[in-house]
Amino acid sequence: MRDKMLKHDQLYIKQQNKQWVYELIKTKEPLTKPDLVKHTKMSPTSINRIVNDLNSENLIYEKDNDTKSVGRNAVFLQINRDARCSIGLEFDMNVIRMGVINLKGELTYMKEVPFSVRENPDLAIDKSVSMMNEIILEQGIERAKILGVGVGLPGYIDDKKGKVIHSDQLIWKDMNIAQLIFDKTDFQTVVDNELKMQAVSEKHTWKENEAETMVLVGIGSGIGAAVLINGEIYRGSSNTAGEIGHSIVNPNGNVCKCGKVGCLASYISERSLIQQAAIAMQAESMADLAHYYEQGQPLVKSILEQAVMYLAIAIGNIFTTYDPKLVVLSGQFFEYFPRLKTELEIRLNQYSQHDDTKRIKYSTLQNKGVVLGAGIVAGERFLELG
Ligand SMILES: [Zn+2]
Repeated sequence: MRDKMLKHDQLYIKQQNKQWVYELIKTKEPLTKPDLVKHTKMSPTSINRIVNDLNSENLIYEKDNDTKSVGRNAVFLQINRDARCSIGLEFDMNVIRMGVINLKGELTYMKEVPFSVRENPDLAIDKSVSMMNEIILEQGIERAKILGVGVGLPGYIDDKKGKVIHSDQLIWKDMNIAQLIFDKTDFQTVVDNELKMQAVSEKHTWKENEAETMVLVGIGSGIGAAVLINGEIYRGSSNTAGEIGHSIVNPNGNVCKCGKVGCLASYISERSLIQQAAIAMQAESMADLAHYYEQGQPLVKSILEQAVMYLAIAIGNIFTTYDPKLVVLSGQFFEYFPRLKTELEIRLNQYSQHDDTKRIKYSTLQNKGVVLGAGIVAGERFLELG
């Protein structure tokens, strides 16, 4: 029994060491074997063995030094970035996005197809599977090289089971997406809330020290956040940490879809903004609101400024709760109303600590954030280093 446990422990340590070396090469390449010995304090023999293993699995390659400046016979190790890949998939209300992500966490291909995802879970899954097959064929990807699929979508997700508990935005409920996709493709699948997936790609975008403790706030068809603490997603007890859309900002305010009064979402989600304006004018889309806003329509201006005020309160609360290095704002809201960024800064000065505005940044990932993050998560989860 004791021997068995010892063997098990040794195997575990071996795997951990291999993972460590692989991650070091991935993040700090090009590295030499002596560099790895220095970083890990493992013996040259162990490093040699691990490097040989990684080499035989085709995950890394060796490149001879041609500059001569680093010393003779220096051999650099690099990640063989296209040796495997993963698929990132995003279900949004009216669109399916899909991309291919390599071992280095780079998006090498992306496709976006308009599709009525809302209220059509089965059709959306079928559509995504046929998109996947098309991409694999078009891009000439060997199926055996695909590590798995990562899926991001708005809503409450059981990330351990890969199951949507419910999504207000998509009107999906109790669906085991991971199982459904696996059944149709044979690819292992991981599912999470779309902002939690995007937070992973944001982490790769910002400076390492900024990304350690970071909150991503998404403002679009809904509003939510994803919290990264020490580089890891903070999930809370049921993976709903960050669902700030239903935090109360005005106890005497608007009635929210969830039945409560004064939720942040009831002031800033696309539907609520359009509904508030539609009482007085013909307004059906965010583009309509942007048009009225540019014309200086007073009601639309006040609806939007009120939304920004509540957003500033919510962000101020995020700063006091988590003390993040960085709050990244994402989503279409500020793409429609870029001038409101100044209004947000003014309001933040009012509702937040003085230097907090310096810690606000706007995401640069646009529509790629969720797909990229989902692909990175799947790649990391399903790469098995024997
Ligand atoms: Zn609510």
